[in-house]
Amino acid sequence: MTAATLTIDLDAIAANWRALDAKTACETAAVVKANGYGCGADRVARRLAREGARRFFVAVAEEGAALRQALGPGPEINVFSGHMPGDTDMIGDLGLVPMINSLDQMLRHLEALPGHPFGIQLDTGMNRLGMEPAEWSALREVATQQNLTLVMSHLACADEPDHAMNAQQLKVFRQMTDGLRAPRSLSATGGILLGPDYHFDVTRPGVGLYGGRPFDDAMPVAHVQVPVIQVRDVEAGETVGYGNTWTAQAPARIATIAAGYADGIIRAMGPDAYVWVGETPCKVVGRISMDLIGVDVTGVSPEPQAVELLGHHNGVDTLADAAGTIGYEILTSLGARYRRRYHSA
Ligand SMILES: *Cc1c(COP(=O)(O)O)cnc(C)c1O
Repeated sequence: MTAATLTIDLDAIAANWRALDAKTACETAAVVKANGYGCGADRVARRLAREGARRFFVAVAEEGAALRQALGPGPEINVFSGHMPGDTDMIGDLGLVPMINSLDQMLRHLEALPGHPFGIQLDTGMNRLGMEPAEWSALREVATQQNLTLVMSHLACADEPDHAMNAQQLKVFRQMTDGLRAPRSLSATGGILLGPDYHFDVTRPGVGLYGGRPFDDAMPVAHVQVPVIQVRDVEAGETVGYGNTWTAQAPARIATIAAGYADGIIRAMGPDAYVWVGETPCKVVGRISMDLIGVDVTGVSPEPQAVELLGHHNGVDTLADAAGTIGYEILTSLGARYRRRYHSA
């Protein structure tokens, strides 16, 4: 058995959800788009439903359909991309709630599924999804007379608490939604940490559930253990891996481990990444290959059978920093080759 093992700690996800929930006085939903940030949307959502989550968010209707199969009837499943052409059967038959983004979507929804619940997504400055203030003014009256279950917007800079954009978007969101009866939602993980002004009625944490920044107190969720396939000695002056990018300055012991960029271990992180053997950090040496990585295990005793690539020592953001990216991308890149395990006490 040489495939690396990816263990998803469902207890940690549950603990992170409870910790984020405890920071607000309102309802805490859960974002499980992109297969639960790579962690397995069905397992994550079922666990969080048991924990008390009643609302889930996905990016597209297909994800919502799969999630409905996993969760059964009951929990509310909201779709950020709204009501797209071709989505009507999934939305109608499986009881999904589209976050309506435009006049076109609104007309499509009210015509195809009159009386079916929907949310409204407003653009408060990010210019990604949602109705602009003028469009919303024109539709507000119609929308509120229908089955409107949520009004939401999304913050562009919530991971930077001092960014002026946060207060600016909060102001616009208030102007666009004050006086409405429908519940309101503005904050993802970052917004929860900005404080009560940003909480409204429902929060929508994603990355914090999965152990990523900006929720610095999060418990790590994804753990990757990689078997060592072979260990060899190299002399000073010998090179390791494609392109001869690393040269031993002194005699060294090199382990070759069974994971690579095909498993989402981003090639660019090579020169700055470490793996761990117990409490010992071991530097990645040479280029990361598709299926293999070289690691300097000089002086590590006993000789390691496996190394930790992701876990308590190496969080998703540590790897992300080494690759010049964000924890979200590390999580959603974790490949299909792992032996997947779910941990739950
Ligand atoms: C992805 C997403 C979230 C969750 O964001 P995190 O930063 O992962 O907590 C919430 N709302 C919207 C609209 C999103 O696209």
